[in-house]
Amino acid sequence: MSWITLNELSTVNLHTAILNELEINKISLLQVVYSFFCKILNININIYMFKITPYGFMGGLGTFLGLSLLKTKTINMFIALILTMLLQPLLCSKCLGNFSLSAFIGIFPLMLLLFVLDCDLLKNCIIVLSLMFAVGRIGCFFAGCCTGKPCNPLFPLGINYKKGSVVVDKYYKKNTCVYPTILLEILLQFILTYLVWASDYGLSIFGIGNAILLYLTGIWRDQCRPNSWRSITGLILFSILSYLKCGKGQTKYDLKFNPDLISLIVAIIVSVFLSNDIFFK
Ligand SMILES: [Zn+2]
Repeated sequence: MSWITLNELSTVNLHTAILNELEINKISLLQVVYSFFCKILNININIYMFKITPYGFMGGLGTFLGLSLLKTKTINMFIALILTMLLQPLLCSKCLGNFSLSAFIGIFPLMLLLFVLDCDLLKNCIIVLSLMFAVGRIGCFFAGCCTGKPCNPLFPLGINYKKGSVVVDKYYKKNTCVYPTILLEILLQFILTYLVWASDYGLSIFGIGNAILLYLTGIWRDQCRPNSWRSITGLILFSILSYLKCGKGQTKYDLKFNPDLISLIVAIIVSVFLSNDIFFK
């Protein structure tokens, strides 16, 4: 399966495509913006046998920004991550050997709670995780993997996906216009990141906010996540337990940006994995 959305949108014929669509008066402002971003993110870089797609690039960027904002990278975080990957099938039966975002988000915060004992560092981890999700979700917009339901092409904010996107290649097999719910998800995920960072109760907000988001996406998404109720339960449990453990936190948590080689290497690995569909399905 290919994650690339841009096969059809080569730099050369992109303007023609936009102009043609403008002429038939079917294109929304969002589609122009979408095409523009596709153009600047037209980065199907090939490294030996691997490619880097816009989806993988955004995942890598989110990882790099997130890891650079971590105060310390402890072995305990790594243990929490490995355990989360092993426990994933509890929340999503098809996730054995794969990566599922909803199963991940249902377990990883609880594992961090268990292994990151310092509340200050826990808050740091959760802010970073929120930011990684928000930036990574921009990749979903390009890949067409987490879209809204199909809509009339005349819908003012509809997003038009073409061959090479997940929604077309995997489900509809033809050009499809969908409701722009993914843009709403990205926006909400960034708002949530801000609240997690700014509020004294950021840890609890992270769990409840993501639980609400999972519930809402279950309603408005075209392809629903499996068993999201289990992830919602995990997230609410995290909110309660983190409040009991840490209570009131630090207002406007002091973040420091320290990019280093480890962050860059991990980001590149994530980018390659996401771009080449290794484990991430
Ligand atoms: Zn997605």
